[in-house]
Amino acid sequence: MIRMSRGLPASAIREPQRELSGPHWCDRFPGDRTTATLRQPFRRGVIAFITALERAGAHVSIASTHRPIERAYLMRCAWDVFHHKARPGNLPRLPGVDIEWVHPTPEASWEACRAMYERYSLRHKPSLTSRHIEGRAIDMAVVWGGTITVQDANGRKVSLSTAQGTDMNPELHQVGATYGVIKLVSDPPHWSDDGR
Ligand SMILES: [Zn+2]
Repeated sequence: MIRMSRGLPASAIREPQRELSGPHWCDRFPGDRTTATLRQPFRRGVIAFITALERAGAHVSIASTHRPIERAYLMRCAWDVFHHKARPGNLPRLPGVDIEWVHPTPEASWEACRAMYERYSLRHKPSLTSRHIEGRAIDMAVVWGGTITVQDANGRKVSLSTAQGTDMNPELHQVGATYGVIKLVSDPPHWSDDGR
């Protein structure tokens, strides 16, 4: 049989090899927990704020700083499929992430996303426009005992008690703001350069 062929042979236009979704993807594109990946001038403000808190006797533990867009994409897709907000076959593609969301059966596709969802310990819907992706946000816990005196960025000494808890203390948030580190009150560990 003679066939006329036009353009590229089929083998050249085949889709790139994609790897099926599953929890093994979760270790790739890791998030960061250091201030080194934060963007300036936010990084400077965060370091100064944390330094002031530690000098005052508070304990600060950082859970997350920069999150690569690839990680946010994987988290969000897993979230959407797990909650039946999207079909695996309709998920968007992200260049550089050759993941195949469609398994041989719908059950297997959903199960792979469920396993990713659990591995990521997702509790909130992951944002694709999060300040973390831009290096403009930090998740941290701030804890202290009794009353401490923290110096804000203007040199003012502010006394912080534990009466209202530590992380959600409005005076702590005011001190952070002087350093350009703004609290997002609806998301307890989250601070950013604009409160989003
Ligand atoms: Zn956050």
